Amino acid sequence: MRRLAVLAALAACPGARAPASAIDQDPPAVSHLDQAGIVTRWLDRTADPCRDFYRFACGGFADTTEIPIDRRTWSATEIVVSTNEELLRGVLERAAAQPGDPLGAYYTACMDEAAIEQAGLAPIQPLLDLAASARDAKSAAAAVIALHAAGVFPLFGIGAQQDFADATQVIAALDQGGLGLPDRAYYLDDKGSLPRTRELYQAHIARMFALLGDAAPNIAALDVMRVETVLARLHQDVVVRRDPRAMYHRIDLVGLERIAPTFRWRDYLARLGVTATAITVNDPAYYTAIAKLLATEAPGALQHYFAWTVLRATASLLGSAWVNEAHRIVSDLGGERELPPRWRRCLARADSDLGDLLGQAYVRQRFPADARPRTVELVTAVLGAMRAQFDRLWWMDEPTRDAARAKLDRMTYLVGYPDRWRSYDFAIGPAFASNVQAATRFELARQLAKIGKPVDRDEWQMTPQTVNAYYDPLLNEFALPAGVLQPPLFAVTYHPAANFGATGAGTIGHEITHGFDDEGSEFDGNGTMHDWWTPATQQGFTDASRCVVEQYGKYEPAPGLHLDGKLTAGENIADAGGVTIAFVAYQTYKAHHAVVPAVDGFTDDQLFFLSYAQSWCAKLTPGAIETMVRSNPHAPPQYRVEGVVANEPAFAAAFKCPPPAKPCTVW
Ligand SMILES: [Zn+2]
Repeated sequence: MRRLAVLAALAACPGARAPASAIDQDPPAVSHLDQAGIVTRWLDRTADPCRDFYRFACGGFADTTEIPIDRRTWSATEIVVSTNEELLRGVLERAAAQPGDPLGAYYTACMDEAAIEQAGLAPIQPLLDLAASARDAKSAAAAVIALHAAGVFPLFGIGAQQDFADATQVIAALDQGGLGLPDRAYYLDDKGSLPRTRELYQAHIARMFALLGDAAPNIAALDVMRVETVLARLHQDVVVRRDPRAMYHRIDLVGLERIAPTFRWRDYLARLGVTATAITVNDPAYYTAIAKLLATEAPGALQHYFAWTVLRATASLLGSAWVNEAHRIVSDLGGERELPPRWRRCLARADSDLGDLLGQAYVRQRFPADARPRTVELVTAVLGAMRAQFDRLWWMDEPTRDAARAKLDRMTYLVGYPDRWRSYDFAIGPAFASNVQAATRFELARQLAKIGKPVDRDEWQMTPQTVNAYYDPLLNEFALPAGVLQPPLFAVTYHPAANFGATGAGTIGHEITHGFDDEGSEFDGNGTMHDWWTPATQQGFTDASRCVVEQYGKYEPAPGLHLDGKLTAGENIADAGGVTIAFVAYQTYKAHHAVVPAVDGFTDDQLFFLSYAQSWCAKLTPGAIETMVRSNPHAPPQYRVEGVVANEPAFAAAFKCPPPAKPCTVW
């Protein structure tokens, strides 16, 4: 996925077919290079591309842009996001002027801060009452059940998931959850700023309880920290969770009742409207332990923990004191320094609650009729290069190659937007919190209704305006929303080398390789969990990866803060693979098409690499970098360029650099 950090899914794009320059800086004089898809003023031509290609491609960006005070990063991707937001704001404002328009009514209610202030705590009082109802093990379990039914998830989460063992069926999946910090390490490790982060978080919890009128907010905060730390110890870590076998335990209702008999699972499922009994859990031991926690933890502490889960989920629905406090911790932890303007927060809400309504307007304005066929052309070129690439992989043996080709032949893709738009069947009125709660229940019911039914392969997992892409190994399918097919990442008017570089390599190639890497090896062409690699290929890939793990482990984005080579290996290998394969695809493409061989002194092959690199031009706050390094499987943007070109002979050839001395080559 393209996104930089652990951010809420925002999205979308600009009015006319304006280049990215429309909003990030003053409009520059458009040179030929800019028309080709390279942002001239982001370059630093004084840098030596052989020594520091990221600086060469993005030095101008680094020198001339600032991270907006209400964002935590600023990047090529963020520019697309921001341009999309401006456009969608217009859509919402026009809708708000139309009586009876659901999107307009939703947005109007969200923008009505006076009414929200007036409502006080009333919108969440029923949830707080539930939290307070935990007086013993039995009533604590009942509170968990009722909160889950309302879309608030203490302790664990539930969703619909394709059965790893049978790609045609959807089953219920329970997963660990219930933490306010991003990952277990935040509670358990003492590295870097983590102890300080815990202090800030605990102080924030205390302030939230003080806002609630709690007489002893510091005690409440201590209780919450203790319970969350217990949960963190039980959580699987991010590296373990990259292995689907570690996450899939098809124990069904009978298994749940065996491992955690004191929790009333039948009541739980009935309350959520789940009639199927086919259930997988991430880790059976987790559910045994949380049932024990409910029985042994002091009821007062559980009440605090549940109330905290409610406040965390709902503070943004309340008045400004709550919203500001909720933002304070985001800012303390290195996120946006200032709260984004209300309209942007309301847009994010509308995107999550009524995304396809926004999507229809977005696609009309930002996805011209020729964008889909041009993207499909790109996709088929990259798929073709991928097929040929299998023959060159030294770590893949012949039987595995055959299986890989068969899987590639079954791979499907979605481009732009869904053929069938979703509808939203919930009441929208003048009360913002009620609208969000209705949307939450509606979406939960929609998700859980999939359980026990066949898989719908046409469903999108992102809205069309989302600036991102994904490959789903369970469907053997990847998706490119219209939102990511935008300048400066893509345009039908760009030089094809630029489209192959940013979108062909950074998005399509990257996503496709996930079907054939260690993650993809766990699922076959139908999406059923089945290890289709031979042991020899498995060993070969592990050997090939070791070099990448070591290479990235040496990168040090801040003093003493090294990248986690293991955590990021899968994504780093996908980056390298995406570039190698898309470059081959471009060579084939240009053998059959008349392409302009050079633009403003750059050869087309150079444009390919420049475009890839510029798609990662970015600035991050130190806090955002640290969060990313600690918990994100993607390396920070700079290393997604440096790490890749360091291994790529085609890059060295294009820029007449010495060939890489000891390249790590997986793809
Ligand atoms: Zn990826």
